[in-house]
Amino acid sequence: MLKKYLMAPGPTPVPERVLLEMAKPMIHHRTDEFSKTFAEASAGLKKVFNTKNEVLMLAGSGTAAMEAAIINTLNPGDKVLVVDAGKFGQRWKNISKTFGMDVQVIELEWGSSVDPALVENFLKSNPDTRAVMIQGSETSTTAYHDIEAIGRIISSRPDTIFIVDGITSIGVHETKMDEWGIDVAVTGSQKAFMLPPGLAFIALSEKAWKFCETATIPRYYLDLKRELKNQLESTTAYTPAVTIINGLKVVLDMMLEEGLENVYKRHQINGDATRAAVQAMGFKLLPTGTPSNAATGFYLPEGFEGGKFVKFMREKVGITYAGGQDHLKGRIVRVSHLGYHDAFDTIVAISGLEMGLSRFGVKFQMGAGVAAAQEILKNYIGE
Ligand SMILES: *Cc1c(COP(=O)(O)O)cnc(C)c1O
Repeated sequence: MLKKYLMAPGPTPVPERVLLEMAKPMIHHRTDEFSKTFAEASAGLKKVFNTKNEVLMLAGSGTAAMEAAIINTLNPGDKVLVVDAGKFGQRWKNISKTFGMDVQVIELEWGSSVDPALVENFLKSNPDTRAVMIQGSETSTTAYHDIEAIGRIISSRPDTIFIVDGITSIGVHETKMDEWGIDVAVTGSQKAFMLPPGLAFIALSEKAWKFCETATIPRYYLDLKRELKNQLESTTAYTPAVTIINGLKVVLDMMLEEGLENVYKRHQINGDATRAAVQAMGFKLLPTGTPSNAATGFYLPEGFEGGKFVKFMREKVGITYAGGQDHLKGRIVRVSHLGYHDAFDTIVAISGLEMGLSRFGVKFQMGAGVAAAQEILKNYIGE
């Protein structure tokens, strides 16, 4: 028997209650029954995004919402600033270049969090910047960017919008879209929302909807104005991901029953415990700035073959961690604490690391990581 544990930052485990909901027979989408579920899910999403604006649901992965953000608000030739501190920052750059924007980049070492003053200074010398794009949490490095501070800088500028990829930050770190001045926020179903992949979410501020009026890039499936018109009536322009939306309604019930504050606190504590554990084992954390509470990346010893370790753990042990991307391939491990993840999942994750790395000949005191995690988690269990 090989019991499977999904400990990578997406897709994340789906709760039993949600799986059971999604196992029900298919229903038609142009019905009152589906529209009721859609409306309830939509209301729940607004609470998580902290916005009074509509949170649109698109059938597609998170990247569909990233592309939609750009093609619905910007024009070829527009000057945009991208904070590139990892794989997903690069995705903003690549999509913007694909559509002909004048892409300016703040490029940072992988693991760092951007200093908001860098963005502010750029905007001062480049007041014609139409958009700033960033990740809330850069999943490839497990670092968090201060999107609140940056949002507050951009919100006083009527001709610049702030576009945030919140795919591993919304639902993990409290995100106040309206109050912080985030103009476009996107996320996807398979990370903090504990659902299968295939659903993307996108919300636009009034300022961003105004940008849509002058956006000329041809678009059809990802035309957000058409979606807004439909979704305000609790339906979608095209066939929605019915099953995942039915699951989403249950996910949002679960999140609101737990209390959003407790959801964020749980991610914080499991993040703290995981960071303490890998450091107690003697490893260096990858984030040098603010760590994300979605996942924890750490460096493996010099010369260690990280790829082999991750493959062994997944295929022989049943625990799926994530390795590194690009120049960090084989050099790091990323352990998720995202979504349907509690104290004992952290213990499994850390214990698995200890036993597995020990099998691969890495020297550290067995149990040191688990003990460090337990010291933190013991104050949280039963609360
Ligand atoms: C997972 C992830 C994405 C990509 O989303 P897809 O659903 O694979 O398209 C983008 N940004 C971040 C920060 C992510 O973690």
